[in-house]
Amino acid sequence: MFTQTTLATKFGTFMIRVYEDAQGKETIVLSTQQLDITVPVFVRIHSECMTGDTFGSLQCDCGQQLETFFEKMAQSENAVLIYLRQEGRGIGLFEKIKSYQLQKKGYDTFDANVLLGHGPDERTYEKAKMALEDLGITRIHLLTNNPSKIQEMTRLGIEIVERVPLVIPANTHNERYFISKRDKFHHLFSENISVPSRT
Ligand SMILES: [Zn+2]
Repeated sequence: MFTQTTLATKFGTFMIRVYEDAQGKETIVLSTQQLDITVPVFVRIHSECMTGDTFGSLQCDCGQQLETFFEKMAQSENAVLIYLRQEGRGIGLFEKIKSYQLQKKGYDTFDANVLLGHGPDERTYEKAKMALEDLGITRIHLLTNNPSKIQEMTRLGIEIVERVPLVIPANTHNERYFISKRDKFHHLFSENISVPSRT
């Protein structure tokens, strides 16, 4: 079940479509107003990060990734953002803040989540697949640095014709976060990323 309308934003006017599952959990899809599904569509699958997306946190790169995608979407005629409400890699905001406390004591984002009794990454992508399927999209250019997202979407039957990097420069607040993304989650960062090289 979904409901939709147009939404005027500072980036342009997009379609907004909201799905609600049986538990009342929402999945949000923003797309360009015209979609040509006969060719691969540019897709960003973004997991909610309230601290980054809404409050402008510099401790991760989520907010800037989202903004960069909106800028691309404004220039494209065939792009879709799927916004999944799985905060903090699926552990929720309350637990994410606890994880941040541990990270300030020296644990990295991977170990902190494990120490709290969670998986390092509890996100799932079935709802992204459902939304794409609903739009009739099976072939995509996926904007991500995350190889497990590529694997998972491929496993779910979406053909990724191209991975498009979405790399935000690191800052002093998120340098360690980038290093653990690279070394523990094996994110694909291009050579020019400004985090210290592997030792
Ligand atoms: Zn974030």
